[in-house]
Amino acid sequence: MSSQFDLIVIGAGPGGYVAAIRAAQLGMNVACIEKEKPLGGTCLRVGCIPSKALLESSDLYEQAKKSFGKRGVQIGKLELDLPQMLAQKDETVSTLTRGIDGLFKKNKISRFQGHAKFLGPGQIQVNNADGESLLTSRQILIATGSVPTTLPGIELDGERVVSSTEALCFQKVPESLVVIGAGAIGLELGSVWRRLGSQVTVLEYLDRILPGMDGELAKQALKTFQSQGLQFQLRAKVTGVSVNRKSCDVHVDGMDSIRCERVLVAVGRKPNTQDLGLEKIGVTPDKRGFIPVGKHYQTSAEGVYAIGDVIGGAMLAHKAEEEGIACVEYLSTGYGHVNYQAIPAIVYTNPEVASVGSTEEQLKEQKIEYKVGTFPFAANGRARAIGHAEGLVKILADARTDRILGAHIIGPHAGDLIAEVAVAIEFSASSEDLARASHAHPTLAEAIKEAAMAVAKRTIHM
Ligand code: NAD
Repeated sequence: MSSQFDLIVIGAGPGGYVAAIRAAQLGMNVACIEKEKPLGGTCLRVGCIPSKALLESSDLYEQAKKSFGKRGVQIGKLELDLPQMLAQKDETVSTLTRGIDGLFKKNKISRFQGHAKFLGPGQIQVNNADGESLLTSRQILIATGSVPTTLPGIELDGERVVSSTEALCFQKVPESLVVIGAGAIGLELGSVWRRLGSQVTVLEYLDRILPGMDGELAKQALKTFQSQGLQFQLRAKVTGVSVNRKSCDVHVDGMDSIRCERVLVAVGRKPNTQDLGLEKIGVTPDKRGFIPVGKHYQTSAEGVYAIGDVIGGAMLAHKAEEEGIACVEYLSTGYGHVNYQAIPAIVYTNPEVASVGSTEEQLKEQKIEYKVGTFPFAANGRARAIGHAEGLVKILADARTDRILGAHIIGPHAGDLIAEVAVAIEFSASSEDLARASHAHPTLAEAIKEAAMAVAKRTIHM
């Protein structure tokens, strides 16, 4: 079978499937090749969505245990039904992945299941159990994402020493879990299993958690997570793991080994270019395995583009989506752009940690003069009423122009609140613009208004 398309997209994660839909809307005849049966990629199948389902369920369990009584809700004997919790997560995933099948049908996108490989310029072979197909197009978009990585000397066996994929479906709560890496994955999944009863120790190589996020918030997050019962060892360089019959020993440079039931390796992800046949089109990944691209996501091969985790930068679903849209809009209209300053990042712990734009550390490094406005949720009426008054909003604005340069939030619903500041940055707003916009009372968003007012030292409730 041979088929010719206006655009072939390799990979149906948030970058690839969104690009395919947008290209179809723009009138292209699009094929999308995905090796897994469900569409949606890491994010929907084994990443963002299942982890958020477990974060929500485990948080409800913890709240039922620790705070329902204080709010006058007595529930008698509380029990964990882990199989049901996992089933709810799986149901969420399958509903959403089926939804993308529906979107593909609606947009008349030809879906191919199988492994895609370049045979030469403009030619892709798709392999699956039924055989091979050859697809051709003058425009091919690589959106193959990333896969979990590990440390030298640590083999992921998928059973005792696992990546995030398996840590989303432990069939029993491990008595003890060592998490290697205090980034988003380590803290989110570490929190899930701690809430469900595991003794969780997070080992982090750096002297801080959440690398890349604002330092002040990361410090506050560390204290909060410690008070919740997560144990941390910072400056801990993990050198290996020995797997025993019933336990694991995690070896750390200069420290005693730590014995535990399971180990979650959460030290980052690596670009996925395995067996893509890039050599057939003369594309060479860089030293870290990423595909180098130009301003419009073009690779060194004519007509071949790449977006998302596979090109580097923040490994975030929504960053990949923006790139996918910008790339295909450029192909169709000659214009497409991503404002990387306005891409938020969120860690879905409780409290959530969210960030957009520059951190204080980055502004200092770039010698940009800035003003800071902060406001604590402890002084926000809604936060008090819902019983989640921990954390703060911090807004950074240019000292000369007052333009908002960044915002950092730790607190209830930080991940939803940050969207307001992302939009403000997109519109090049000043902190005064945010401060003068009416925010409904009582809402958590008032903390953003107050932090913006604090930039000009005119906050009302502090
Ligand atoms: P990460 O890069 O965010 O964090 C990995 C951590 O491991 C770092 O703090 C690093 O210093 C530490 N580390 C590295 N080597 C170590 C060693 N030998 N011993 C101890 N610690 C070591 O990676 P991640 O948390 O695995 O996430 C992978 C990617 O997926 C990231 O880009 C992340 O942003 C993304 N992601 C995002 C979300 C979200 O947005 N909520 C959720 C999950 C994943």
